[in-house]
Amino acid sequence: MTEDGGTIEAVVSDFGGVLTTPLMNSFLALQDAHGVSAEHFGEAMRAAAEAGDGENPLFKLERGDIKEAEYLEILREHLEPLLGHRPELHRFREIFFEALDPNEPMIELMRECKASGRRMAMLTNNVQEWEPLWRTMLPVDEIFETVIDSGFVGYRKPERQIYEITLERIGLPASACLFVDDMELNCEAARELGFAAVQYRDAEQAIAEVRAALA
Ligand SMILES: [Mg+2]
Repeated sequence: MTEDGGTIEAVVSDFGGVLTTPLMNSFLALQDAHGVSAEHFGEAMRAAAEAGDGENPLFKLERGDIKEAEYLEILREHLEPLLGHRPELHRFREIFFEALDPNEPMIELMRECKASGRRMAMLTNNVQEWEPLWRTMLPVDEIFETVIDSGFVGYRKPERQIYEITLERIGLPASACLFVDDMELNCEAARELGFAAVQYRDAEQAIAEVRAALA
């Protein structure tokens, strides 16, 4: 039951950090591979935003407004003054995904939700060029009837439009949907639109909260 006494008919799950192990592992792997600290990556992104229209170029990449190659070029350009050289950043996406594993307890929970008759959607901030890598990590099409991928729909969480596209795809009101995401900002945006939401912190907590919401 939801807070207003309705019934949850659909589960909308994030991908990275919910159905996978923490993304921090990927940033640490990139750090090891390229000798560039997470702090320097962050600083370079801030500098790139300031040099452009103020927005983090990662957000543009996630909306598919720029290509991965363009994003990496921006990153390299703004890392150069911090490092004293322009890093190559070879195999960026491969290193990112090699550091991630499927989060089996959460994938099992999603199977359970589907088996209970719930409609299932995945809503992910992602990158067009990364689709072949993340799709092989879990049985996406077996569990989810639809995938709303920021890289292809042109909006990213927490933008209202991407939640609306999700509701349109599954044909249900927000009040019938449970949203699961590891980012507080994304959960808040979902709640504002009327979704029930569970913020993933660890599998035990999230599984308990999802089961309670569906009970
Ligand atoms: Mg996430």
